Amino acid sequence: MKVPKERNTMESLENDVKIGKEIESDLARLLCLLATHLPKDIKKRIEEMAENENDAAAKKVYDCMLENMSLADSLARPLCQDTGIPNFYVKAGADFPLLGSLENIIKNAAARAFRDAPLRPNAVDPFTSKNTGNNEGPLAPYIDWQIVEGNEAEITAYLCGGGCSLPGFALVLTPGEGIEKAKDLIIAKVLEKGVNACPPLILGVGIGASADIAGKLSKKALLRKIGSVNADPHAAALEKELFEKVNLLRIGPSGMGGAESVLAVNVEFGVRHPATFAVALATGCWATRRATFRIGSDLKITTEDF
Ligand code: SF4
Repeated sequence: MKVPKERNTMESLENDVKIGKEIESDLARLLCLLATHLPKDIKKRIEEMAENENDAAAKKVYDCMLENMSLADSLARPLCQDTGIPNFYVKAGADFPLLGSLENIIKNAAARAFRDAPLRPNAVDPFTSKNTGNNEGPLAPYIDWQIVEGNEAEITAYLCGGGCSLPGFALVLTPGEGIEKAKDLIIAKVLEKGVNACPPLILGVGIGASADIAGKLSKKALLRKIGSVNADPHAAALEKELFEKVNLLRIGPSGMGGAESVLAVNVEFGVRHPATFAVALATGCWATRRATFRIGSDLKITTEDF
């Protein structure tokens, strides 16, 4: 049997553990930073919305949001009392050197951030309603995996709050109902529950063959950068149409009314079955704390989001 890799020596394994601990510590610090800072693109968009707003009450709310951001920064305090449940979306290269340890690195980093930030314990047993006390439990933290070519890893972390998830849904329509019914349902849901989700909102729309696929796509759509547009012209047109129609609802920041109600509308899709048209909506609030961290082949962790 061939034992080809130098990595299998005791020395290199010890080195991997040491590097893994360093990444864990760096990732934990970045998660603490994420709890206290919005990523650049969301902060910039809120500043623009504040600038463009003419309604006095809405302007006041934007001022509060900007002051909140400034205080969270200067005092190193969480931006919101709801620090969410950490969700991680991982794109890992098949040749990433620490692939086998990455799940533990992420879980340990989340546990350290829980203690250090601190993050609020938000993980609750769905049957007993008992809080697990440490943000851990089945599927907490939640980790979504995508294995790609290469020797690097990309981790998008999202501190997913409760209120901002309230308008979410996923269901399967008939093809006859299709896209028009999907648009109506999305707009009706934002009208019904959008105000509970601390607008202005990011709307993530997923379309696919079944509810689980559409649901996952809707959440991934939330993670796209503000200002990005789907490369597919139909999806891009849907983003634009929903953006314009939801703004016409004039929900405004914190539901106080105002020119704009959404930070962005992002659509992601996959093929559907001839007999189904699944659609899902995921929503993010003004304090959508998500950021992407890259671990290069040199095992250094970087981000462009702060
Ligand atoms: S919806 Fe967002 S801003 Fe509002 S309480 Fe939840 S996490 Fe905080």
